[in-house]
Parts: sequence; structure tokens; C-alpha cells
Amino acid sequence: MLEDNYRHKGLRKKLVDTIRAKGIKDEAVLNAINNIPRHLFLDSSFLNFAYQDQAFPIGSGQTISQPYTVAFQTELLEVAKGEKVLEVGTGSGYQACVLAEMGAKVFTIERQKKLFDKTKKLLENLKYFSIKTFYGDGYKGLPTFGPFDKVIVTAGAPVVPNDLLMQLKIGGRLVIPVDLENDYQEMILIKRVSETEYERQSHGKFRFVPLLSDKARD
Ligand code: SAH
Repeated sequence: MLEDNYRHKGLRKKLVDTIRAKGIKDEAVLNAINNIPRHLFLDSSFLNFAYQDQAFPIGSGQTISQPYTVAFQTELLEVAKGEKVLEVGTGSGYQACVLAEMGAKVFTIERQKKLFDKTKKLLENLKYFSIKTFYGDGYKGLPTFGPFDKVIVTAGAPVVPNDLLMQLKIGGRLVIPVDLENDYQEMILIKRVSETEYERQSHGKFRFVPLLSDKARD
């Protein structure tokens, strides 16, 4: 059932070439994408699309992000082995696995119960034991598990949630797509430089499903 064959591996190499050609340089990110069987994160009806550089539906009205977008956000994070990384928006669990492959201890939050249950099971089956999954509202982060070296938000946020800024270590980085107009977001990188100071950089336009507050049962 969790088959990963030579055809999948070949398609994955091509996907890595595509992402590299689009400008991703971090070898650890490219290596993670090369190692993770993305086809197992999509419903089987989308198997043929798993290794195209595109976003796809994963149920509960949500999407698995485009591989290039995953790579872009991860590269901005500058993940090092052993770091604690908080992800808001577990979705399919693919991004969490990229972080885990890079040696991070991952804490990931999902607000949709059905998706949360499905993904938790998949991550267990794939034996990603360095990923801890949480059902809850990512706006609030995980105060009892923080502070984090890195925080990544994988849904379009109307604002940068204050709780996430507070849970970032000094020297830490937060990557978050923040709403512009017409369903687009600007990729924002925030570095915490001291207890009270944060630096903010913009990194171009992307498109994400919205970050919504509170938990959802469906
Ligand atoms: N990182 C995912 C892509 C996620 S799409 C992947 O690799 O597949 C965005 C996800 O954020 C959706 O699953 C959505 O349900 C979730 N989400 C939206 N608002 C949220 C919130 N406030 N807290 C936690 N998750 C949220």
C-alpha cells in the first residue's frame, strides 16, 4: 500500500530538477524532496499528478502546496538539524516531512479534525517519529512547546499572529504568507533580532488557502 517504486523515484528526480531550475539552491531542501514519496500524500486518483509542480486537493476543501512553494518557504527558513520547528497548517503532512527529513523536530497544527486524523495516521505509517501532530488553532501556536527556532505558516494569513511572534526564539525565523488583495499573499520572512525587535522582508507573491481561526469538526 505504501509502495515507492523506481518509476516514482524517477519522476521525483525530474521534479527536483524542475524546482532547482526555478531557483531553489538549498541542497538539503532538494534532497528532502528527492526522498519523500509525495504520491502517498495525495488521494490515489491523483497519482499521475503527484510529481508535477502543482498544488492539489487533499479533501476537506484543502490543498497540498505546490512543491516549489514548499521548497521556497523551507529555503527561507534555513532549517538546521535538531531545530524545533512549528508548522501551522499540517494539511497532507508533506511539508512537515520535508522539515523532518532535514533533521528538524517538527510540531505541526491542523484545525480540520478529519484531515488531522487522516494525516496523523499517514505520518505514523511512514514512521516520521520526529513529527508531533496537534489538532487546534494555529493562530495561538503551541505556547507549552515553544519557543521555536523556526515557524512556518502554510495558509494565507490576514495578519501575522502575535502569539507566533512571541513563540519565536531570538535569532529565529518566521515564514508566513500574508494577504494582499484578490486571494494573493505576499511571502513574508520575519527575523526576531531581540526581545522586542523584529526585521521583516518580502519575498514575492503566492497563493494559499486561507488561515481560519478556531477548530473545525468536519
Ligand atoms: N502544509 C500543508 C498544506 C496546507 S494547506 C501540506 O504540506 O500539505 C493549509 C492548511 O492549513 C489546511 O489544511 C487548513 O485546514 C489549515 N489551517 C487553516 N487555518 C488553520 C489554523 N488556524 N490552524 C491550523 N491549521 C489551519
